[in-house]
Amino acid sequence: MDISVVIPVMDEEESLEELYSSLKGVLDKLGKSYEIIFIDDGSKDDSFKILKNLAEKDRDVLVIRFRANFGQTAALSAGFKYAKGDIIVTLDADLQNEPEDIPKLLEKIEGGYDVVSGWRKERKDKLLTRRIPSFLANKVISRITGVYLHDYGCTLKAYRREIIKNIDLYGQMHRFIPALAKWLGASIGEVVVKHSKRKHGRSKYGLSRTITVILDLITVRFLLSFSTKPIQIFGLLGIISGAIGFVIGVLLVIQRQFFRIPLGNRPMLFLSVLLIFVGIQFISMGLLGEMQARTYHESQNKPTYVVKEIIGGGE
Ligand code: UDP
Ligand code: MG
Repeated sequence: MDISVVIPVMDEEESLEELYSSLKGVLDKLGKSYEIIFIDDGSKDDSFKILKNLAEKDRDVLVIRFRANFGQTAALSAGFKYAKGDIIVTLDADLQNEPEDIPKLLEKIEGGYDVVSGWRKERKDKLLTRRIPSFLANKVISRITGVYLHDYGCTLKAYRREIIKNIDLYGQMHRFIPALAKWLGASIGEVVVKHSKRKHGRSKYGLSRTITVILDLITVRFLLSFSTKPIQIFGLLGIISGAIGFVIGVLLVIQRQFFRIPLGNRPMLFLSVLLIFVGIQFISMGLLGEMQARTYHESQNKPTYVVKEIIGGGE
């Protein structure tokens, strides 16, 4: 199989038929084998009925139905699991992404990239609640992950199979796939894509998504830099905090012993004790983290590295 198109669907009954036929038009023209995977993420409308119809008519369509709403990230994750294509393309079901852009993404992948992300340069969403938060978010995410993209939130993306199969997704993590892929040594590209207003139904997200994204960003940053060596970060913080507390404490004791300055009424004493305690806490947390990291990798046989290829050795 050459291409798998993965589409998360939640209450998008009005858009599905149109999406399917324009997608079909684009994919048939490519002259490659493909499949279209719809994940029905607990839709309450007739989405599943429509998808089922499509799957019965067309052998290239696969429908995965969730028992309940598990979220867009889980839906994509399920799609990746079942995808058989060498290249995996994701897009939204609400017709905001254009299937006509898919060939552009594929071209870029064939040009040697492992992950190609769409960039909705002229985004047709609300300015205040969508475009401005998203502009800032993209700046911050780029800065913190070190992978500079204009549009992390665009679902229209294409991935090489080897990359995506090595990434596990939780929370709202799907938008960070390029950053996680970078850790696996992937090369990341960007392509300008079209974007339209939502024609039917409502967006499934509000402004509160910003907070989820920030929390996920912290997780990603931690995973990228310290997941295999938590003591390096927690231990460092612990040592700094403990050392400052210790120095303050020593100074106070010297003042008490040699200059007869009473110790009992000095706020600095509290600070010193607090910093030492926090330092011990941080170091213990780092040690717990180290044990967690070992459990995480060893219990699942997850290596702490990614091999690209192995040659020689008589095989
Ligand atoms: N979606 C989903 N599960 C959810 C929320 C959204 O499968 O819990 C799907 C939704 O049907 C759409 C895509 O994810 O295909 C993006 O959602 P939406 O268009 O509401 O987000 P926006 O474009 O407004 O950021
Ligand atoms: Mg949308």
